[in-house]
Amino acid sequence: MNARTDARQLALAGDFPILARPIHGRRLAYLDNGATTQKPDAVIEAERRFYRESNANIHRGVHRLSQEATELYDVARESVRRLLNARAAEEIVFTRGTTEAINLVAASWGRANLKAGDEILLTALEHHSNIVPWQLLCEQTGATIRVVPVSDAGELELAAFEQLLGERTRLLAITQVSNALGTINPVAELTAKAHAAGAIVLIDGAQAVAHQTVDVQAIGCDFYAFSGHKLYGPTGIGALYGRAELLAAMPPWQGGGDMIRTVAFEGSSFAEPPQRFEAGTPNIAGAVGLAAAIDYVQAIGLERIAAHEHALLERATAAVGDIPGVRLIGTARHKASILSFLVDRIHPHDLGTILDAEGVAIRAGHHCAMPLMTRFGIPGTARASFALYNDEADVDALVAAIHKGQDLFGTRGTTR
Ligand code: PLP
Repeated sequence: MNARTDARQLALAGDFPILARPIHGRRLAYLDNGATTQKPDAVIEAERRFYRESNANIHRGVHRLSQEATELYDVARESVRRLLNARAAEEIVFTRGTTEAINLVAASWGRANLKAGDEILLTALEHHSNIVPWQLLCEQTGATIRVVPVSDAGELELAAFEQLLGERTRLLAITQVSNALGTINPVAELTAKAHAAGAIVLIDGAQAVAHQTVDVQAIGCDFYAFSGHKLYGPTGIGALYGRAELLAAMPPWQGGGDMIRTVAFEGSSFAEPPQRFEAGTPNIAGAVGLAAAIDYVQAIGLERIAAHEHALLERATAAVGDIPGVRLIGTARHKASILSFLVDRIHPHDLGTILDAEGVAIRAGHHCAMPLMTRFGIPGTARASFALYNDEADVDALVAAIHKGQDLFGTRGTTR
């Protein structure tokens, strides 16, 4: 497939009503997809239809609406199973998102299995939500964290990974795609190595699910976490995939309704997974919206989406990278639709504000990856991140707006 032709062909912005809204009187170039994606009509409508036609609490009702809501929630779980190619729907736990999924594993599996002397292996690329839960767990258990370093290009140092992986390593928790640099990690290869060393593996898929086909069986991981809102779905819904044997052996982490088998004041017994980990009324409408989002991306095809975004990333990398005074941060060989950069003598936040006035929405800051910024000796970056509805005009708007910023600062055409 000719990647550049494909970038023009995937013209789907019309499915996303918010993209038609002018910002500061300009056409919106929404390039903050790493933070959250916009929602297609199909998702907005699915949630609306749920509240208008089928709303009721699940599992507890004998009446028609409750049965309908329960069925829609079960169908949504099956959609997530299909998205990740899990073996069974029971391996899918609905959560509020990636952060809650990782906290669930840390609180349940972690507290039950880790002790002083054990090690958790992370990487320098991790988002705070794949760092802080493990720090909290280490405080409680006496386990310690070790960190795989990254190269100047933003790739994992694989020799260091092999050295750090040892008999004390109980868990490898690693992102599939770096939200700050776009680096795609070889997660299947790293999972196999971690398993050979006797560790289990959790993958943070927050930045991966919307940009490539994910197959948890092919990766071989034990846990996989993602958020619906980065996949064109609603906020407040996401999922944890957990291998059935592991979930079955894990204690509950939150107690309440729906996660029990029996309750008595003398003690309670708990439901089988996934219900054991879904205490209380879940985000039913969110799950319905997430299922609609999954149907939407699968109808387009994740491979097509990946090719389209790759073409945009290549175009943006060349065009932004060629601007005198711009430094790209993160130049890994395998990258997904994220372009992080610095512009000489313009603070990323100032740049973000200037770009906003031009209708170009990017993110500026540490991207919840402060250790990674420290590694590069910078406080933050400007980050443009692409999604299926972006097109070449968005890239051109980004480049023109950066030029405008340099004009304002009197730095156009100059390097430090
Ligand atoms: N992990 C990565 C790599 C992310 O990019 C994000 C969000 O930016 C998260 C985890 C946290 O996701 P959420 O805030 O949806 O729980």
